[in-house]
Amino acid sequence: TMTVAGFDPELAESIDRERRRQEEHIELIASENYASPRVLELQGSVLTNKYAEGYPGKRYYGGCEFVDVGERLAIERAKALFGAAYANVQPHSGSSANLAVFLALAKPGDTLLGMSLDHGGHLTHGAKPNFSGKIFNAVQYGLNTDTGEIDYDEVARLAREHRPRLIVAGFSAYSRVVDWARFRAIADEVNAYLVADMAHVAGLVAAGVYPSPVAHADVVTTTTHKTLRGPRGGLILARENPEVTKKLQSLVFPGTQGGPLMHVIAAKAVAFKEALEPEFREYQEQVIANARAMAGTMQDRGYKVVSGGTDNHLFLMDLVDKGLTGKAADAALGSANITVNKNTVPNDPQSPFVTSGLRIGTPAITTRGFGEAESRELANWICDVLDEPENEAVISAVRDKVLAICHRFPVYEAA
Ligand code: PLP
Repeated sequence: TMTVAGFDPELAESIDRERRRQEEHIELIASENYASPRVLELQGSVLTNKYAEGYPGKRYYGGCEFVDVGERLAIERAKALFGAAYANVQPHSGSSANLAVFLALAKPGDTLLGMSLDHGGHLTHGAKPNFSGKIFNAVQYGLNTDTGEIDYDEVARLAREHRPRLIVAGFSAYSRVVDWARFRAIADEVNAYLVADMAHVAGLVAAGVYPSPVAHADVVTTTTHKTLRGPRGGLILARENPEVTKKLQSLVFPGTQGGPLMHVIAAKAVAFKEALEPEFREYQEQVIANARAMAGTMQDRGYKVVSGGTDNHLFLMDLVDKGLTGKAADAALGSANITVNKNTVPNDPQSPFVTSGLRIGTPAITTRGFGEAESRELANWICDVLDEPENEAVISAVRDKVLAICHRFPVYEAA
């Protein structure tokens, strides 16, 4: 009865089933990945017991000398990985990193210009139901719906009209390179701070296969669990600017958080060490090659891809001309053990809950070892299902192929 299985069998069974789901489904949610066994080990370590409010060497609690080691390593490695002068590894999540940064640079009621959720931005970039849309005067930019690319002229026009204190660049669903320098120029013109939220592409940036915002933005935020493949969490980076970095320090703690999660910070440290290895660059190059292979195969099969392709780890399928909703497509693929998420597309005729698109990402399949050949095969299976989403025989044949390839490419069960 010491173990979870002995003490709480209902819970233990749900975790076994989740483990098996992760092994036996193909994971294409662009924000997910499989963390390494080292990252998992640290998140379950005794460090979870320790309170360490404050920063290394300046804590409000005794007994912090050993957890200080992990936080110092995480900070130094984050700075080295991204070429940043400043790093704060304490944010519990990407959303809490954004909360701390926005409050460090702006006051409630100030204007924030960010990308709208339905064009690929994140909730925390000014969406109405989120803190960012409630405590700031949020103005939203989006895509040029003809090209599917960010409408920089619109960003500049809105910036001149609304004179925001903060401009937020970054996305949750955008397949192209962001022109960070263009955002810098727009921010400079209206004397705004530029915050780059690179949560989705942080791993690509760390590996040097996607342009880095670090030299352009006043502050960079990210999650650590997407392409970066670390534990769930947030990270703040900044250039040398004591006026800004002093505020960032105090807005994380005590401004918006209490005790840092030292077990997660240790896991961030080991994930950053993994990301500094040469294999990480090969992995990230493969992530992009796999996304391009999938998008190209789907276009060959007559499916529309927003913006016509991808430069990163994800792309959006536009199903408007197929008369298929994102919700139905997501459900049909789910029955074939392929996990995707529905996503709005530019000028979507459906509601945000139904949508007309799918977001497809390759970080997780690449971690389990898929190359371009497997990615093309998978894209064809997806098209087979979407061609006939109600054909049970097709779904069942695809599910068999998915199970076979999942057994060939285990996530954690390989020795
Ligand atoms: N920023 C962007 C661009 C994201 O895509 C996400 C994740 O969904 C977040 C922030 C928020 O991260 P979290 O879910 O850790 O709060």
